[in-house]
Amino acid sequence: MKIKIITMLVLLWQSGIALSAQYLLQAGHMIDVKDGKVLAEVTITIDGNHIQAVEPGYTVPREGQVVIDLHDYTLMPGLMDMHTHLTTEVSPGLFTEKFLMESADYAYRAEIYAERTLLAGFTTVRDMGDQDRNLGASMRRAIDLHYIHGPRIYTAGKGLGTTGGLADPTNGLRHEYMGSPGPVEGVVDGPIAARQAVRQRYKDGADLIKINLTGGAITPSQTSLGPQWQQDELNAVVETAADYKLTVAAHAYSAEGIRRAIIAGVNSIEHGDFMDEELAAMMKAQHIAFVPTMTASKWSARMAREQKEVARDVREQMAEMGDQIDKTFAMAYKKGVWIVFGSDSGVFPHGMNADEFGYMVAAGMPPLEAIQSSTIEAAKLLRIDKTLGSIEPGKLADLVAVRGDPLADISLMKNVSFIMKDGAIYKEGGKVVMPIGDMPEDDLSVADGPARDEQ
Ligand SMILES: [Zn+2]
Repeated sequence: MKIKIITMLVLLWQSGIALSAQYLLQAGHMIDVKDGKVLAEVTITIDGNHIQAVEPGYTVPREGQVVIDLHDYTLMPGLMDMHTHLTTEVSPGLFTEKFLMESADYAYRAEIYAERTLLAGFTTVRDMGDQDRNLGASMRRAIDLHYIHGPRIYTAGKGLGTTGGLADPTNGLRHEYMGSPGPVEGVVDGPIAARQAVRQRYKDGADLIKINLTGGAITPSQTSLGPQWQQDELNAVVETAADYKLTVAAHAYSAEGIRRAIIAGVNSIEHGDFMDEELAAMMKAQHIAFVPTMTASKWSARMAREQKEVARDVREQMAEMGDQIDKTFAMAYKKGVWIVFGSDSGVFPHGMNADEFGYMVAAGMPPLEAIQSSTIEAAKLLRIDKTLGSIEPGKLADLVAVRGDPLADISLMKNVSFIMKDGAIYKEGGKVVMPIGDMPEDDLSVADGPARDEQ
């Protein structure tokens, strides 16, 4: 036992985070996302990985306190993207890479995607479907243990689909290679398979369930945007997920797909391009979140127009969706639908997540509300708003700052200059200053294996 304690102390000593000094963040402006107002000249005290105090004026540092000068900046909570795909990125090789890449290849590549996402100011993401089964859970662990740098990950694991639907990994293959993937791989037909698939995700360590209810905009499939699930299958997913306190996110484009998802009682509708007024009213009544992923629609429309990497049979449909999402977003906002920030990064290059802010504002949402949708509202959707999502004493120290006033110019969100996650600084004055070689406090082999001294 003694050896174990000494090992832990050595690891703590090696860890920059565990013994970091107190920081005083002196912010020229701070966005209070809870009350929806901006405070001028505020000092935030960071102790370890927590926010200790939020005080008016610029506090004079005591001994051992390090001042971070953010007088020309607007400070806000760490940004949250509720729709990412950290294990993949659109490319001409996307379809064939699954035959060529090992799991480790996916993992090393995804590390770069995670780093880019964090350095864009996104300290938390909801990752919405693994390319390589269960890679999201491994990445979540590697980031939590400081093996790699990235945002806090809430993973759906491998997303669920029906045979031939979006998320059936064998679509488009020669028949002898298709096989018949089942619930473990996320392909379900019927309520029993749906229950098994949810329980498998629970066993795999998923934080939520993602169902792909209609076809995708960029993936060739015969039914395209139409529904691909029957009501009893969706109900089985939502009811089973509730047993494990897992939320359910539904990828749905067409009105009929959205309708079925609402009837089943999902927690969020992803994309939702063809939502109509009646569906918006139903979503509002049931407090179902709308995650519009406008950046993906815009990017896909551009790709379709330029005919890059786009299958012929979906080109026209993709080109239309860029304008459709503006109309749908404006309608949903006016109807009072709960809109939560999500970009669908991976459909476009990782690190461009903040483009979403500009599209939301252009479609009619005030900048302050767009920032709230990416902080406190996202935290509510993830059910972590007690610990994250706003700048308050006692909450975890995830904060970002941009130079100038993003409420006057929302494009500033694309240029985050200061990033703190869990009390550690990753970017300061626009420069990357990621903690290097910080050994985990709680090494995986120590934490999960049998105690070495007791073997
Ligand atoms: Zn997606």
